[in-house]
Amino acid sequence: MDSSSESHGSNAYVSLRGVSKSFDDVRAVVDLDLDIASGEFFSMLGPSGSGKTTVLRLIAGFETVSSGTISIDGEDITTLAPFDRTVNTVFQDYALFPHMTIQENVEYGLRTRKVPKPERAAQAAQAIDRVKLSHLAGRLPHQLSGGQRQRIALARALVLRPKVLLLDEPLGALDKQLREEMQVELKSIQREAGITFIFVTHDQEEAMRMSDRIAVFNAGRIEQLGTPHEVYEKPATAFVAGFLGVSNLMSGEKAQAVVGRTGLVNIRPERIRLVGPGAKPGKDEMAVSGVIIEVAYTGANTIYIVETAGSVRLISTKLNEELPGVGESFQTGDKVVALWRNAHIATIPH
Ligand code: ATP
Repeated sequence: MDSSSESHGSNAYVSLRGVSKSFDDVRAVVDLDLDIASGEFFSMLGPSGSGKTTVLRLIAGFETVSSGTISIDGEDITTLAPFDRTVNTVFQDYALFPHMTIQENVEYGLRTRKVPKPERAAQAAQAIDRVKLSHLAGRLPHQLSGGQRQRIALARALVLRPKVLLLDEPLGALDKQLREEMQVELKSIQREAGITFIFVTHDQEEAMRMSDRIAVFNAGRIEQLGTPHEVYEKPATAFVAGFLGVSNLMSGEKAQAVVGRTGLVNIRPERIRLVGPGAKPGKDEMAVSGVIIEVAYTGANTIYIVETAGSVRLISTKLNEELPGVGESFQTGDKVVALWRNAHIATIPH
């Protein structure tokens, strides 16, 4: 784990120490140490089965640890029942009561806490207002769209004023456009409410866009923990480099042919610029010659695959800015020179 995980250690709000969880012979979470700061938007990112949901459920109290401790604000909560923890969970399927109106759904948690009627009505109305659905408070859940139901699930959690909100792929059921809108809303609600969000997703773009820090999970362990910038620009492992964004990972002979050394390196496709044959690298730049073997136009970008000497295939993406003097366009079969700055070669430690 890198040093940024420790920088939050002094003001850790949610702390996991040596947490492991096994289901029979499956080691879902392995000896995890983790500190999350108060008010942080913290994401757990990783492929299916990597253990992120299990960590969330352990913090919520829906699962018990096999070993280790969990504390919130200095209090050991390892063995507390879910309802005795100052956390709330928003699930992907929203889990709204179908026969209750939106207002009643949001009031429900306050009712179980025996908050008097006028007070809980006012608090629920405020929470519904916060997610901008006051005009729909009298409707039943099936009369709402997926995005609206998602917002109500959020209001229902927020009304209880949890110190920590746990979100398990809350946007997973939404289409791309709505999902992107909700990402912006969720982030602004989190900022306004000042609640610590612990967010599970397998969507790397979503994690990058929303989080203060990201833990990248693989096989029950954190491979890397850092800011979006750190995990993208300085991946600690080949797995992290491959999981976040598109990579040109190279080692051995291929790395030797392209960057002149044999260790494991990565160059992001947007850092590789293509120019016509004969071009020379500038100061602090490197260059290799190659031939374009594939071109894919994706609207905002064009993706080129270049085959260089030594049969190394490099991916280069070009932003389609259409500005004079910014990048040329090429076709399959064109000879090119691929250029990048030395500083953009990321050395991968493992
Ligand atoms: P996904 O993105 O698919 O939800 P995840 O990263 O959240 O995946 P987990 O749900 O935490 O992964 O699962 C981690 C491992 O633990 C998997 O191998 C899974 O099959 C196993 N597992 C999780 N819950 C249980 C359970 N209740 N019983 C048995 N095995 C389980």
